[in-house]
Amino acid sequence: MEKHYSRNHFHSKTAFLVEHLKKLFELCIEFAFPTQCVACKIYKQGFICNECRASLENITPESFISRKPSKDWEIEDTLKSMTYLEKVYYFYYYNHVIHSLITEIKYEGRKQLIKYVIDLILQSKEFQNINFADIQLITFVPLHKDKAASRGFNHSQLLAQELSRRLNIPCIDILEKHRSTKNQADLDRQKRLTNLENAFSINPNLTKDLDVNSILIIDDICSTGATLNECAKTIKKFYPNTKIYGLCLARGKPN
Ligand SMILES: [Zn+2]
Repeated sequence: MEKHYSRNHFHSKTAFLVEHLKKLFELCIEFAFPTQCVACKIYKQGFICNECRASLENITPESFISRKPSKDWEIEDTLKSMTYLEKVYYFYYYNHVIHSLITEIKYEGRKQLIKYVIDLILQSKEFQNINFADIQLITFVPLHKDKAASRGFNHSQLLAQELSRRLNIPCIDILEKHRSTKNQADLDRQKRLTNLENAFSINPNLTKDLDVNSILIIDDICSTGATLNECAKTIKKFYPNTKIYGLCLARGKPN
């Protein structure tokens, strides 16, 4: 007996074939034109090759001030007066791979690496153990308008927006940087702590009645924690009852 296929059947079969052909085509392209690894610059597959990916070392929860192991990233009661932040989460030790990733985004404008960085955070061992249920808003470390104009974007904002999308937590501009400052990475520890003093202010469009208990600030790398702390201080002045958390991709090994 002759088989009769409906129009829908034909369409779904075609869509299935097209989807598979597309995947096959992409695999062929990847094989024929390997991409250059962001870190070692060797042509292989993916933004970061397997060898470079394997060099990333996970960080286990610690107090971001003392850098002593800490359950759930809590900081010691005795150190709480030193910061405006409740906790800072970070997932990998800073190394040449992390350096290359961030440099390519910031200075080469490779915004397609933002998703890769967020994937790295989401795939890290510790991320799944963090309870984000209490976080009501995500924000980011702002750039001074001159720097934002010369770069064309703020990579911390793009990271925050991507994380916001994945976690389904809204992301808003809470802070502005009204004073241009020296690059933190070029300064010693002492100068880093004072360089950013009073450099940030609250977005003038925000009102005092923002009813939010907790905010997560995103930055790429945490070194002394001075940048996040200054951001948290600025938010706390305006919204004193809000708990502030920080989240970064990486941090260097303790001295
Ligand atoms: Zn590599």
